[in-house]
Amino acid sequence: MADSFIHTLRLKVRPESYPWLNAAAVEVNQVYNYCNEISCATATRTDLKRKWLSGFDLCSLTTGATEYFERIGADTIQRICVEYAQKRAAARRLKLRWRVSRGARRSLGWLPFKAASVKHKGNALRFCGKTFRVFERARLDGVTWRQGCFAQDAVGDWWLCLPVKVTQEPAVAPKEAVGIDLGLKDAAVTSDGERLEALRFYRDARCKLGMLQRRGHLRQAKRLHRRIRRRRQDACHKFSRSIVNTYQNIVVGDVSSLKLAKTRMATAVLDTGWGTLKQMLLFKGEHAGRSVKIVNERNTTRRCSNCGALTGPSGLRHLAVRQWVCVNCGASHDRDVNSARNMLIVGSRCGTSISGNESSPEWRAPSQTLSPREAGPHALRAAA
Ligand SMILES: [Zn+2]
Repeated sequence: MADSFIHTLRLKVRPESYPWLNAAAVEVNQVYNYCNEISCATATRTDLKRKWLSGFDLCSLTTGATEYFERIGADTIQRICVEYAQKRAAARRLKLRWRVSRGARRSLGWLPFKAASVKHKGNALRFCGKTFRVFERARLDGVTWRQGCFAQDAVGDWWLCLPVKVTQEPAVAPKEAVGIDLGLKDAAVTSDGERLEALRFYRDARCKLGMLQRRGHLRQAKRLHRRIRRRRQDACHKFSRSIVNTYQNIVVGDVSSLKLAKTRMATAVLDTGWGTLKQMLLFKGEHAGRSVKIVNERNTTRRCSNCGALTGPSGLRHLAVRQWVCVNCGASHDRDVNSARNMLIVGSRCGTSISGNESSPEWRAPSQTLSPREAGPHALRAAA
């Protein structure tokens, strides 16, 4: 049985089309802002709740609008209407932000379309009577899409984004289970001792960024920001891919990057990319048929993974302690590996994924339960 999921292809558009796309984005903004206005103005208050224009209503209101626009066609207008209605409903607000076409606070360009309006034409693509060429054209061979969009990034480059269906044969991973400790010294440490070094991309480039900004080289600064983001994503992609390919059951701590991002450690937390890494593990794990669990990581640093006594270093004072010896059983531990092992032990006993602040079941010494590595996948499934 092959699983299928949606994967978004992102292909860079060749720069000769940028002027046309920039002009089309202005027209998109006009349609979007019209939807924003009319939707708010016509919202009627009934007894209990407001009734809003649906995407379908907006489509019929904009019928025939194509003739006022030079570039975008009816399919793009319809997609804008539908997307607007969905976005407004999801945001649960009276109005969404106005899309600005000019000036410093300009919205990033966006140009949605339906599948039928983008066609292959030799080595290029045909859209709205214009020929587009993209980099890495070969990735589009044999691929079908239903809809997609052109999107602009902060640097000003345009990308063709196409959600395509990918099928993947599920395969069983070679190893049973792993616990992953997310940290600041090393971005991630597994219970088998594998490490992803802390990603210092932003902090290393901060000096250069500041210089560029002071000198007014804003475009270069934006490029550098994009480069930092891509390097971080690349490192997270590689690490999560290797984890998902190797292990069947994956357990991660519930450390919240959003909460820590409000503290003094914010830069470090955001630069290590915990949030990205966790999300990648979740969706890659789901596609590959792995079980990814998020467990409460309370006491995982202090607890000895061998005997279960709370003998390890605790608190901010002992943050520098990397190695310690358990006074109860004499086992010597690496701080992060020990923490990852504890997470694995907790994760192998609680069945459902725990999110937020729910408490996970109490720790039990490995002697009372079978060690997940020894017990194998059947025990893990029975525990689940
Ligand atoms: Zn111990």
